Amino acid sequence: MQHTNTSQPIFILPQETSRTTGRDAQRLNIAAAKLVAETVRTTLGPKGMDKMIVESSGDITVTNDGVTILERMQIEHPSARMVVEVAKTQEHEVGDGTTTAVVLAGEMLKLAEALLDRDIHPTIIAHGYRLAADRALAIVESLARPVTIKDRALLLKIAHTAMTGKGTEDTKEHFSSLVVDAVLRIAANAPPRRDAVTIVKMTGASVEETQLVSGIVLDKERCHPGMPVRVEEARIALLDAALEIKTTEIDAKISISDPEKLQAFLTMEERMLRGMVDKVVATGANVLFCQKGIDDLAQHFLAKCGVLAARRVRKSDMERLSQATGAQIVNSIDDLSADDLGAAGIVEEKTHGEERMLYIEGCPNARAVTLLVRGGTEHVVDEIRRALEDAVGDVVAALNDGKAVAGAGATEMELSKRLLEFATSLSGREQLAVKAFAEALEVIPTTLAENAGIDPIDALTLLKAAHDNKEVNVGINVFTGKKMDAWAEGVIEPLRIKTQAISSASEVAIMILRIDDVIAGGQEKPSGRPNPSDEL
Ligand code: ADP
Ligand code: MG
Repeated sequence: MQHTNTSQPIFILPQETSRTTGRDAQRLNIAAAKLVAETVRTTLGPKGMDKMIVESSGDITVTNDGVTILERMQIEHPSARMVVEVAKTQEHEVGDGTTTAVVLAGEMLKLAEALLDRDIHPTIIAHGYRLAADRALAIVESLARPVTIKDRALLLKIAHTAMTGKGTEDTKEHFSSLVVDAVLRIAANAPPRRDAVTIVKMTGASVEETQLVSGIVLDKERCHPGMPVRVEEARIALLDAALEIKTTEIDAKISISDPEKLQAFLTMEERMLRGMVDKVVATGANVLFCQKGIDDLAQHFLAKCGVLAARRVRKSDMERLSQATGAQIVNSIDDLSADDLGAAGIVEEKTHGEERMLYIEGCPNARAVTLLVRGGTEHVVDEIRRALEDAVGDVVAALNDGKAVAGAGATEMELSKRLLEFATSLSGREQLAVKAFAEALEVIPTTLAENAGIDPIDALTLLKAAHDNKEVNVGINVFTGKKMDAWAEGVIEPLRIKTQAISSASEVAIMILRIDDVIAGGQEKPSGRPNPSDEL
């Protein structure tokens, strides 16, 4: 940061600032991004391995899911974090394909680096990549085949593909049909949304007992044993206020000397609580979900009135209840009226081993469904939940776009081939960039093969020959090492996985390529994790 024309050096940045420029900056950024891709690479595909992440708190996660691994790793390098963002975007937009997106980004950068070494300017590479990405999106769109809610068998295959290799092997058929049923139920009248399918986990039973509930399952129990276990024709009140006597902010001491006065004081409290319960009951509610606390005495009164109540219900659950039952969430007991109540066919507490849960079924809005995931231990249940989330995301994405493509590396191979053809129509240096992009796509079949212990060069040669022979849907059979028609074998993915992965991977690759100066400021914030990108 010195200016040499003056006798005095001029510092325009604080002293502790570190700065890397030019090829050094590019090299470091690309290396960091490639490292991220390398980290998740071995988890790709049905034969991918799992990772165990032990956090400083001692929490252990065993997973195969790209975005989960990267999130838990707490990556700090700024450009590495940009690649992690690719996984997060993929997770947000589709739910599945996070490893694919990151591995693609890493490979695009790796091949771009080779071009940089040949003195091709980064802006030319960036331009070529952009051309290639646009073309790739158009090609993949044309390769896709239609999917509708009538194609149950096809949707089952999509769910099945999403869960292959995710620790759900023995129960995949069962899980696929649960996922497809769940999505079809919410997709009956309107485009499905991923968040309409809630996944609730519960340990203590075998995974086969995972079930689909048409309604809502709350990880809550009745707050008083005297309350009914089952309420039919439920009229449901949702209250975001405590059924408690407010305690004063400051520690106030009330000294009561006379026993009669004590009685009077207690009866007054009792009367107030009774009054609150009466107001709830007066609206005609026979079920109450309270976001805040319910006093013991109030619980007793509610039980006496035959009301089933649960307290400290999570805000997100309150919102789901509101959507499913049509009830309004009311902030004050005084404002609660009959108009605010929602309805459900049955509200029932069910016991699973030691645990109790509340089932709210037969809601007027049938578009709320829950997958209740069971499994022996927390880690098993967590991994199954992630696999189910991926599958739900894939089926929803397939229905929303109405399109699906062949998996097992088939689509990437075909894209690669057609992009190479496209490259020949371009001149000079851009052609090299488009070629690099096309080659980068081969990383998916290559990695699928590698992870399955198949020689990647053999596999690629096999696939190339097939695609040259117009066998558009041929991918790698990771179980035999031979080629297969992925579509015919039922390895099918939603179009969105591919389009999203291509756009976000190419965007981040381009962005990283265009950086030639990294200025990392000193740490201003004395507390918390350093956040280099914030200070750029
Ligand atoms: P991601 O996080 O990218 O979804 P996965 O570990 O789920 O990573 O792997 C997805 C890849 O595995 C896709 O390319 C998909 O086509 C491929 N795949 C899934 N099932 C099979 C199968 N039975 N045979 C070959 N490839 C498969
Ligand atoms: Mg997946």
